[in-house]
Amino acid sequence: MTNYKRRISLIKDDITKLNVNAIVNAANSKLAGGGGVDGAIHRAAGTELAIACSLLNGCPTGDAKITQGFKLPAKYIIHTVGPVWRGGNSNERELLESCYKTSLDIAVQNNVSSIAFPNISTGIYGFPKKEAAELAIKTVVDFLNKNQLPEEVIFVCFDDDNYNIYNELLK
Ligand code: ADP
Repeated sequence: MTNYKRRISLIKDDITKLNVNAIVNAANSKLAGGGGVDGAIHRAAGTELAIACSLLNGCPTGDAKITQGFKLPAKYIIHTVGPVWRGGNSNERELLESCYKTSLDIAVQNNVSSIAFPNISTGIYGFPKKEAAELAIKTVVDFLNKNQLPEEVIFVCFDDDNYNIYNELLK
């Protein structure tokens, strides 16, 4: 088994429950809280998170910003804004790749040893799940091959489709 494989794991769970250094949020560009995983994270972290996010002046698509985890077990939340799928000719792939890469860069800057990613853009934003998973895994593997941190990356799937896709790709 190569080095990076020992540093990647897959679980089916609610990301707000995880006891990791940082979780990633699939946020919107206003960092205003919303549906899906974003709503779950805001509910679990408490109202202090909304206040912290309101001070960040939003976040462009493909970029990421960090806050504390507040009431979450995780110390940090890295908020990244995935692309809305518009058919595939609007830079969606590059932007999604940038979400993973930028989140990992911010994790390194904050000395994060364990980080959990949800399946960014594959819910309300409609990115095709298999392609999103391939891109997420490739971006994470490339990053881990070049960086000591984070020591551990966890892909957190919530729906069966995504879990089955990741399970197959990570075999
Ligand atoms: P986006 O707008 O980026 O598509 P969504 O929140 O709609 O974001 O969906 C992204 C992914 O998050 C989906 O695959 C969805 O199943 C998953 N998800 C929803 N709630 C949770 C949760 N509590 N923990 C982990 N993943 C979740």
